[in-house]
Amino acid sequence: MATLAEPRADTDEAFREEVRDFLAKNFPPELKGKGNALASVEGPTQEDAQQKAWREAMGEKGWGVPTWPKEYGGGGLSKKQARILQEEMGKAGAYNPIGGMGVMMFGPTLLESGSEEQKREHIPAIAKGEIRWCQGYSEPNAGSDLANLQTFAEDKGDHYLVNGQKTWTSGGQWADKCFAIVRTDKSDKHNGISFMLIDMDSPGVEVRPIQMISGLSPFCETFFTDVKVPKENLVGKEGQGWTIGKRLLQHERTNISGAGGGGRAMGAAMSEVAKKYAEFDANGEIADKVLRDKVADFEIRWQAFLLTARRAVEESKAAGGVSEISSVLKKLGTKLGQERSELAIEIMGLQGLGWEGEGFSESELAGVRAWLFGKAFTIYGGSTEIQNNIIAKRVLGMLDHQ
Ligand SMILES: Cc1cc2nc3c(=O)[nH]c(=O)nc-3n(C[C@H](O)[C@H](O)[C@H](O)COP(=O)(O)OP(=O)(O)OC[C@H]3O[C@@H](n4cnc5c(N)ncnc54)[C@H](O)[C@@H]3O)c2cc1C
Repeated sequence: MATLAEPRADTDEAFREEVRDFLAKNFPPELKGKGNALASVEGPTQEDAQQKAWREAMGEKGWGVPTWPKEYGGGGLSKKQARILQEEMGKAGAYNPIGGMGVMMFGPTLLESGSEEQKREHIPAIAKGEIRWCQGYSEPNAGSDLANLQTFAEDKGDHYLVNGQKTWTSGGQWADKCFAIVRTDKSDKHNGISFMLIDMDSPGVEVRPIQMISGLSPFCETFFTDVKVPKENLVGKEGQGWTIGKRLLQHERTNISGAGGGGRAMGAAMSEVAKKYAEFDANGEIADKVLRDKVADFEIRWQAFLLTARRAVEESKAAGGVSEISSVLKKLGTKLGQERSELAIEIMGLQGLGWEGEGFSESELAGVRAWLFGKAFTIYGGSTEIQNNIIAKRVLGMLDHQ
C-alpha cells in the first residue's frame, strides 16, 4: 500500500510529465551545456536574456532548491520528486540556474538555525537566485585553526561594532551579503564565537581582490572597520557561532564532494572525453589498453563513490541532516575530482596543454583551468589533513593522542 513517504507510481509519472512540460516550455535549447552564471568562481558571468528568463522560471517554481520548504520559496518536493526533476533536467541538457554559497551552505544552515524573520527575509531571495552570499570564515591566523579567529564584534546595545580582517573571501567583491563568524567574547576560544550576517555595502567594509598569477581574482581580503551590524543579524544566540559555523561546513563539505547534487561539476564523464579524443579499435573499445584500464578503473571508483555518497547522504538526512560523514565524502570526492581532471587532461593529449591562444577550443581551455583550479578542492572547506583529524576523532572515535 502506498504511504505518504512513498508516493504512488502514477503520481510520480504525473510529476514527471509536469517536469517535461515545464522544461519544454521554459528551458531554451540554446542554453544546453551552459553553466550556472551565479556559481562561477571566476566572477559573475553576465546573464543574457535567455539565462535570466530560465533563472526566473526555475526561481518561480522553487525548483532550484527543490526540497526546501515551499513557504520560503523552495520547491517543497519529496526526495523522489527531486530525483525525477534531476533526471529529466539531465535528459534535456538543462542546468540548475540557482546556485552559489547561498544554496550550498548558508540557506540550509539558516533553515536549521535561523529565526522565522531571518528565514522569511533571506531564503526566498536565495531560492530565486537574486543575491550573492560570501563566506567570512578564514583570517590570516585562522585557517585550519579556525577557532583562533580574532575579528571582534563589540556589543553596542542595539548593534554590534565589527572590526577585523577576513581572507580568501571567495567572490567577496561581487557579494551582496556575508555570513561571518566573529568573536563576541575574547575569554573563551570556542564559546566566544558568534554567527552574524553583514551587508557588504555597509560603511567600513573594504574588499581587496587577491590577484593570482593567472590574472584571476576569485577571492579577496575583506577588512571591517567600525562596521555597524544590527542585533537582528545575529543567527542563533551569542556564543553559538562555533556550533552553527561547523554545521555550515558540513553542508559545504557535502556539496564540495560532489555528493550534494548541487556541488561544482567535476567535469564531463570520462567516456565522453574519450569518445572525442581517444582512438578506438574495431571492437569499439579504447585502443590504448593502458588508457582503457585507467578509464574503466576511474569510472568504477567514481560510480561506487556516487552510490556510497547517495546512501550516506540519505542516512544522514534520515538522522536529522548532515553529519561528520561530510568529512569522509569531502576527502574522497575531492580526491576523485582531482583524478578525474588529471585523467581528462591525459586523454586530451596535446589538446590538454593549452592555456590560451589559437589551436584550442573554449572547452579545452576550460578543462585545463578546471584541472588547475581543482588543486584547491582539497584545501577549501577545510584541508584533507583536517578532514582526516575530524574522521579520526568524530567518526572513528579515536582520542587526540591515539
Ligand atoms: C580556492 C579557495 C577558496 C577559498 N574560499 C574561502 C572563502 O570563501 N571563505 C573563507 O573563509 N575561506 C576560504 N578559503 C580558505 C580555506 O578555508 C583555507 O585555505 C583552509 O581552511 C586552510 O587554511 P590555511 O590556508 O590557513 O592553511 P593552514 O591552516 O595554514 O594549513 C597549511 C597546511 O598545514 C596543514 N595543517 C594545518 N593544521 C593541521 C593539523 N592540525 N593537522 C594536520 N595538518 C594540518 C593543512 O592541512 C595545510 O596543508 C578558500 C581557500 C581556497 C584555496
